[in-house]
Amino acid sequence: MGKHLAPKKKHELNFIKKKASDQAEKAKAARALFEAGKNRLKRERPAGKMRELPSFGRHTWIFQALSLALLIVIRFLPLDGWMVPAAYVIPALLAAAEQMANAYEKLRGGKILNSSLITVAASVLLFATGLYTESVLLCLVTWLTEQAEKVLTSKCEERRRRISDILPETAVLVTEDGFERVDPASVVPGDILFVAAGDRIPVDGVVVDGITTIDTAAVSGQRSPWAVNVGYKVYSGCRNLTSDIRMKVSRPYEQSTARRIVTIAESAADFPSELESSAVRFERLYCPIVLGLAFLLGVVLSALRGGWIQNLQRAAVLLIASRAVLETFSMPLLYRKALSLAADNGIFSKGKDCLEAMAKAETVIFDKTGTITEGRYAVTDVYPVKMSERQLLTIAATAESYSRHPIAAAIREAAGKLDDRVLKVIKIRDIPGRGVSAYVGNRQVYVGNAAFFEEHGIKYNIPSRPGTAVHVSVDNRYCGFILVTDKVRRRAFDALETLRVNGIKKLVLLTGDALSVARPIASRLNFDMLRAELEPDKKAQAVAYLMKNKGARSAIAFVGEGENSGRIMSGADVGIAMGSLGSDLALACADVLIMDRDIYKIPRIFVLSKLVYRAAWENFALCTLVNAVMVFFGMFGLLSPLAAVLLSFVMNIALLANTFRIK
Ligand code: ADP
Ligand code: MG
Repeated sequence: MGKHLAPKKKHELNFIKKKASDQAEKAKAARALFEAGKNRLKRERPAGKMRELPSFGRHTWIFQALSLALLIVIRFLPLDGWMVPAAYVIPALLAAAEQMANAYEKLRGGKILNSSLITVAASVLLFATGLYTESVLLCLVTWLTEQAEKVLTSKCEERRRRISDILPETAVLVTEDGFERVDPASVVPGDILFVAAGDRIPVDGVVVDGITTIDTAAVSGQRSPWAVNVGYKVYSGCRNLTSDIRMKVSRPYEQSTARRIVTIAESAADFPSELESSAVRFERLYCPIVLGLAFLLGVVLSALRGGWIQNLQRAAVLLIASRAVLETFSMPLLYRKALSLAADNGIFSKGKDCLEAMAKAETVIFDKTGTITEGRYAVTDVYPVKMSERQLLTIAATAESYSRHPIAAAIREAAGKLDDRVLKVIKIRDIPGRGVSAYVGNRQVYVGNAAFFEEHGIKYNIPSRPGTAVHVSVDNRYCGFILVTDKVRRRAFDALETLRVNGIKKLVLLTGDALSVARPIASRLNFDMLRAELEPDKKAQAVAYLMKNKGARSAIAFVGEGENSGRIMSGADVGIAMGSLGSDLALACADVLIMDRDIYKIPRIFVLSKLVYRAAWENFALCTLVNAVMVFFGMFGLLSPLAAVLLSFVMNIALLANTFRIK
């Protein structure tokens, strides 16, 4: 991290000092600027995609209430002859107005076969055949169900909007002559920004001045204050809690964390899941059949044999039956709810299909480092050969100067500050799953695991104590090894057991680490399968092997730490990345992003997916069953239109209740 930043840092700090000699005053000015600008920009932000109600707006309930009142009143009026239909026309129109408007709207949108139109048609049929009350009731209960659905939808919408709140509204640019409030989309990498305490980090960057605490809650779903200092990375969407800082922009707005997460959250529901697509296919097949039956029954049969009234009423029952199917069993709502629930927990799924894959999963593969373990190694012992511990650590740390592996970080930390006068690193090569090879001065240094040393034919010592041994050699001469260990996450056992209880049959642990390190972990956590000492390619092969041998209906999920196993996870049905905040690879490669490193979120998302999938099937089954019953009995006149109206109402409410149940 320090490489490209270090030389410029001083210059920037001087620059900032010069330009903002009176920091407090400038900060105040910036703050005022900020407050003033917030409102303006808020207005400029594009409005959400919320669909507005057609024509009647929010007062449709008045129509419905009036209609119901009239319906009751008319029942008690001593009417006869033509006065009866004349009286019922008013409540019928009032009740149907909304449906007609909806039908019109949907027709204009190109959806010819829509539930509103069919409702209107059924209502007209009922009215025409003298079933006035039923006709009005049908529209009334349809409206009622739609309201219930709207409440649910708006709750999900609200959650979704809360996610887009993490988008920054403004950024304060530090310029030659002070501060300038700008649109975050206009800043470019290299710009210096001022972020006041209490504000959001507008784009991803690196702190160049100030010490503060950052809260990632909005992005990760959990309050987790995080201390940052000069040189630390900060991510857009997080809130700067305690004091003002300056940061250097490292990524433009569009590529920054907040924007990418919001894009993922917003587009997750765009594509139908597999189950949804089959529901749509079913609908395409089923509806024309039922509508055709209704036509045959109502028109053709009557024309041939007479009995118009009775047959048209039966046709109306069929129309009522076909409606619920047209709403695709409330499935979109179900998935939307699941996606927003997950997002609330700081889990972002890239699509509904990922939820479905997790629901079907019977095998979960874990990449050990960073998921099961904390991914924060610490040096526990140093075993030098013919040199001091300090020397060994220094050599290793120098070679590991720029490695992003957590082992490298541990060694660097143990070595402390390096004297870069003595140690010039010329060429470094990171060898994934092995270690690093570097030239320090003009000496070839290898730092890595046993396999790496076998490859180079260098003899090494075998540790007698538990831990991952990192061997070191200089010019092919063995210098000893450093023992590092990583801690198993505190709730790993509980999380894995929860997965098992919820239908995961096989837990697999893959790691590049030594077998001696991985085995105790795997047996303590009850893993079913362990493959250790795998380099990244072999991990991908192991995933491919498991994929080839899985059951046709089951799926395989891969849980990894984004940075380390991003590419491997694309081989599984669904790739889940932990600790995705700030990981480019995770954002790009994973299907499901867990922003923080809480291992318990893994069973959480699996359980949620399974609940949703089951509810979707339940809805499908209930709907199909009730419809079959309605069509069958309706055809033979064994189900009165009133019973059909009530039955379809109860069923629709049951579908919604099933959706509502998901928590
Ligand atoms: P995993 O993520 O499964 O622990 P990795 O592929 O990241 O496995 O690494 C596997 C092994 O390779 C590590 O346990 C370590 O022994 C060695 N290794 C990889 N990179 C480094 C490095 N930069 N420095 C030292 N050892 C390394
Ligand atoms: Mg790894």
